[in-house]
Parts: sequence; structure tokens; C-alpha cells
Amino acid sequence: MKYVRRLEEITKEDIAIAGGKGANMGEMIRIGMPVPSGFIITTAAFDKLIQIHNIGEKIKTMLDEVNVEDTNMLMSTSQRIKELIISQGFPNEIRSEIVEAYKKLSSVDKDVKSSRNLTESDAVFVAVRSSATAEDLPEASFAGQQASFLNIKHEENLIEAVKKCWASLYEPRAIFYRRIHNFNNPSIAVVVQKMINSDKSGVIFTVDPISGENVMTIESIWGLGEYLVLGEISPDHYVVDKTGKVLVKKIGQKPIALVRDHATGKSIQIKTSDEKIGAQVLTDNEISKLVKYGKQLEEHYGKPQDAEFAIEQSSIMIVQTRPVTTKTKITESKMTGVKILQGTGASPGIATGKVKIVKNIREIIKIEEGDILVTAMTSPDLVPKMSKSAAIITDLGGATSHAAIVSREMGLPAIVGTGNGTSILRDGQIVTVDAYKGIVYEGVVSIKEEKPRDLSHLEKTKTKVKVNLVFADKIEVASITDGVGLLRIEHMVTKSGIHPAKLVREGRSEEYVQILINGIKPIAAKFYPNPVWVRTLDARSDEFRNLDGGDVEPYEDNPMLGWHGIRRSLDEPDILKAEFKAIKRMRAEGLDNIHIMLPFVIIPSEFKKARDIADEIGMGDNFNMGIMVETPACVFSIDEFCKEGIDFASFGTNDLTMLTLGVDRNNAKIAKLHSEFHPSVLHMLHHVIDRCNKYNVESSICGEAGSNPEMVKLLVKFGIKSVSCNIDAVYKIREAVLSAEKEQH
Ligand code: PEP
Ligand code: MG
Repeated sequence: MKYVRRLEEITKEDIAIAGGKGANMGEMIRIGMPVPSGFIITTAAFDKLIQIHNIGEKIKTMLDEVNVEDTNMLMSTSQRIKELIISQGFPNEIRSEIVEAYKKLSSVDKDVKSSRNLTESDAVFVAVRSSATAEDLPEASFAGQQASFLNIKHEENLIEAVKKCWASLYEPRAIFYRRIHNFNNPSIAVVVQKMINSDKSGVIFTVDPISGENVMTIESIWGLGEYLVLGEISPDHYVVDKTGKVLVKKIGQKPIALVRDHATGKSIQIKTSDEKIGAQVLTDNEISKLVKYGKQLEEHYGKPQDAEFAIEQSSIMIVQTRPVTTKTKITESKMTGVKILQGTGASPGIATGKVKIVKNIREIIKIEEGDILVTAMTSPDLVPKMSKSAAIITDLGGATSHAAIVSREMGLPAIVGTGNGTSILRDGQIVTVDAYKGIVYEGVVSIKEEKPRDLSHLEKTKTKVKVNLVFADKIEVASITDGVGLLRIEHMVTKSGIHPAKLVREGRSEEYVQILINGIKPIAAKFYPNPVWVRTLDARSDEFRNLDGGDVEPYEDNPMLGWHGIRRSLDEPDILKAEFKAIKRMRAEGLDNIHIMLPFVIIPSEFKKARDIADEIGMGDNFNMGIMVETPACVFSIDEFCKEGIDFASFGTNDLTMLTLGVDRNNAKIAKLHSEFHPSVLHMLHHVIDRCNKYNVESSICGEAGSNPEMVKLLVKFGIKSVSCNIDAVYKIREAVLSAEKEQH
């Protein structure tokens, strides 16, 4: 065959003919992973279509003429190219190869000896997925940008789907990304795979996704995997060490399942039979096979993996694998007290508070600041109140559920999958949540974290004490602080559920502007006239993947060192402009205490470009623009930054320490090496403070170390002008600043 290859014939080297996704599938088969059977319609088929209809030049001209910054023009060019491709006759030679491969795939399924006798009704359901050649490349990942079609059956539908996949090579966002990344001559392959009719499905993490511990975590449910992610039920949770020994086996309640209807191929929800609701999903044999596959994937890709599996009639299929990313550090919690409930710790932290059971969305009004939200499972409409509560406990859901994902994003302690938290706990009961271990204790159990206290007796400090903020919900601290030293906007975006890049791509920048105004305004008003330093977007590409539109975020090997902060903002100036416009509008309304802070800068020209963009949108003269000092490059160019006109410089010690010591913030294994007190880091802090003082630029700190009294005392001695700490550290930081200032006199 000229245009069709079996998946088995493909390896990761074959991106040119199989595209990124196809090459990965082939690679998994090559290393012995069971992957749903299928074939690839190679790029040669697409190229042939273009060639025999002679439409290559036409497409090129249309692309040359398009201004990708002009969304309307981009969309209409995309539409014209797609229509051009779809309207072409399908080359017979290619059609017959596809039909033959499809028949073979169907015959394998039916165990029919000769594919010739296969009738239409024997045809199998297939998934038809685009696999572009620029996709999944390490340099520029386009994963997920092109079309996919599920539950396709019969030859004609398959051919239609293939055409649509081909046309999707010219989706607006794909054209845009190729232009930005300078990719020319793209082509596209199509992966056709048998749909799995999962009896069971789940995920394997080859490390504990919460603690980073070197054990396998498996979660599994009946039916299709979608319900695992949505947290509709509480999955079984197995923890297995790498020798295959099962350490934890927690069987969840699975009253419903999503299954595929045999006739239509569509997914439908069914009630699970009584005996299956609380039954163990995976057999011990399946667990040990999965552990074996997990180990093999981790070894092959050289990184912990998060793999999805599906099991149909006892045969396991690996349908996808990607690297695990963990944000959390392990911190041992020492608790005593009466244990009343156990679940899975999904987002670490400790909190004590009043239980508020929320059975339906109308009861959400019960939640007050600091309550422990207890619910069967979370949904996006609970998010605004989640941020108000001190911790979350759910009956259902696993480590990948909505509750877990959102809580981690918010830094809120969460325990999921307790099974019966909503019936065991009582409204108003005081409990302590240890979300490191997944345990709920009765009453108040000793907690290390400092709570805000009455600060009225504390004298005013010379060095300003500011606070780091995420939401507008916890801003009573305004009266006892000198402003906001870091306002992270990422969580306003998470709450909105939509990726800003998608809004901008679709010409909906104004919605992003509104999201920011809604998030920033109450904070700026409360702190007025004290300054609020709003940091421009600094989300790593892996952190927003769950948002609407996040599916096209590039896959980067090291997102921490990748496309985030000012470098991304300058690549996507429309996003930055929307942020600036939001600030400009609020300032015009009188909130002229709002200023701009740029993250992850390495060269003064980045600052200059950002300021030019601010000028371009007419921000005016009176706003301050400063930088975060979080790269050694920035530290050693601080003089040049000062000369370029920065108004302030604030240490992002989380990143600065990571980059100075070569200690990945996300890697729990080496977390013990992360120390801001390393002489090299201290040396840098001292140097920057000195230089800033020389140029009369306000030096500050907004990394975690700014909440450490010992560090703050040192910085005051070095001559820092302000420090910004977490809300719960304001008291001790004000005390530390006072005592350091007194010592100096
Ligand atoms: C830092 O790096 O110290 C910082 C405050 O930024 P983030 O933690 O958001 O990277
Ligand atoms: Mg940072």
C-alpha cells in the first residue's frame, strides 16, 4: 500500500509520514504497549490530494495574504482553504486503500478469515484523529489543534471524517501557530483506531501525583474513562509499590457508569448493578499488568508518566501517556486527635473550621469565610465559594477529579473520595483537615500555621509590609498592610474556565478584560490608595491545560523553564494588551493605585517592549512598571534594568532559588535542597537591593521566602524597601520587620 500503514510499522522517527500523534502511537506499540489496533493514512495521501487537484499554489497564496493578527481575516481564510480541500474529489487510489484497511480492521474484530466477505453491518466503530507533522514536536507542540472524530462507522463516514481531518490542518489556530513558529509546508496524517468499548477504565500515575512519592497510583472505574475525570463517582484507588506489592486498596462507590451504546456508538449513562457498585474494579492480575506497563512507559520516556487505560473483555489497552507534573512539595504532617473520616488527600494542607454540608447548589450560600465545604462532589459552579472556604471534603472523586484539580490550582487543602463525608459529618461541627494524609479529625487539632491576629498594637514599620493575593475574598488584611506586593491573576482565569489565549484567538479579548476587571477591582478599591502590583499572566503551559481552549497548549519538556511569563506575553501581545487595557480602564476610573509587574524577565529589552505596548494602548504616564527578579540573568543585569527605567524590582525567590541552585521546584525528591538561605541566593538578594537603592528603585520580595521571618530580618538588614508575604504570615512578618529595624538603630 502506498498511502496506508499499519500502526505496527510506525516508530517515533516517522513523524514525517505519520504525524506526531501517529508516530507516538507506533512507538508505544514498538515498546510492547497494547494500543488499540488501527492504521495510519500517511501524509503522502494528503500531499497527493493537493498535487492531483493542483491546489497547493492557491493555498499558499491565500496563506501569504493573511494577516494572522486580524482574527476576522484569519477565520475567513481558514474557512476558504478548508472548503477548497473538502470540495475536492477523493482520489480513488487512496479511497480503496483506506477501505481495504478498514475492512481488515473490522475483520480482525469479527475474527472473519477473509476480509472480502465482510458486510457493511460487520464494520467496526473507529476513532479518526488528525496527526499533523508539526504536532507534538519538542520545539513547538501543536497537539490537539486539529480535528478528531469518534464513533465513526461505515466507509463513507470514514472517508468524510478523513477529509475533515485533512481540512483541519488549516484551522485558524493552526495557521496562526505555524506562522508564529515559522513552520512551512505542513502536512497531515490521519490515525484510524478501533474504538474501545471499555468495561473498565482508569489512569496510572507512575509516581504519587500528590506527594511525588515513588509509588504507582491507579484509579479505576466501570465503563468509559470520562466519568473518572469529571468526578461523577468515586473511583477505586490503588497504591502499588514498584515491585507490584499493593500498599493501599480503597474501593470506591460507583453507582453509575458511562458506556457505549452498541447500536449508535454513542456514550450513555447507566446505573451500575447492585453488586458492582462497591466491588473492586481491577483484578489483582490487571493491577500487576498495569504496574508493569507503567514501569515500562516511565523507563522508556525517562520521566514519570500519567497514562490512561481501557479494558475491554479483560484485555488492557493503553490509550494515551504523558509526563506527570506535580506542583506540590511533600511536607510531613504531625497530627493527633480522634480520626473521624478518611479519604484521598488531593491537595495538601491543613485547616480547621466549621463543617458546611452543601447538598445542592442552592445551599452554597451557607458557606462563610473559613468554613470547611463538604459536598458529594464539586462542580464548576461551586468554584467561587470554594475559594472562600478553608478546605474541601468530597464523598466522591479521585485525584484527577474536578475538586482535586481546582483545589490544587487554588492551593486549598482538599480530601476527596471519603465515601460518606456528607453523612458522617454534621453542619456546624468543628473539624481539622489533614489533606496531606487524607484524614479528618474531630475538633481543633494543633496546627502550625499562623492565623491573622490583631495587629493594632504593632507600631508602623519603615519597611513596607505588603501581602500577596490571589482572590478578592480575603482582603480584610488591607487595613494592616501597605499594599499588594503580588497580585496573581492566574486564578481569576482559572475561575473563568476559559484560556485567555482562546478568548484572544476568537476575537473575544473584551471578555478577558472583564474577567480581570472583576477580579482586580475589588482588591484595588479595598487597598486604595496603597499600591497594588498586578503581575501579568504567568501560567506555565501545563497549568492551564484543563481550561476551555487549554487543549492546544504546547507540550513542553520543562514548562518551568518554558513559555511563560514575559517571554510568552511578548509572543502573544494581544493577551498582554488585554491585561493592560483592563488596568488602564480601572486607573481611569480612579483606581490609580494599580501598577504593573512583569514576571520572569531576563533582558531589559523585554521591559522596554512591554512598556512600549503600554504606551501604545495609551496607559498614560503615572503608572509604575516593575519587574520580578527571579532569574540570575535579571540579577546580574539589574543595573541595566534600573537604567531602562523600572520603578520597582521584586524578588520571586521561588524561581530565583530554583534557577540558582538547579533545583526543580516541582521535584519532590530534591525539595530538601531548595533553600533561599544558600549563600549564592543571599548574595544575589544583597546585590540587587544595593543596586536598586543606588538607582532609587523600590526593592521588594514576593516569593515564599517573604513569609519567612528570618529571611525578612536579613533583607531588612540588606536595606530592602518593602516585603510582601502570604496573608497568614502578615503578623509574624510585621513583627520580624520591626525587630530588625530596631536592631539597626
Ligand atoms: C516566585 O517565583 O517566587 C514567584 C512569586 O512567582 P511564582 O511562584 O508564581 O512562580
Ligand atoms: Mg515565579
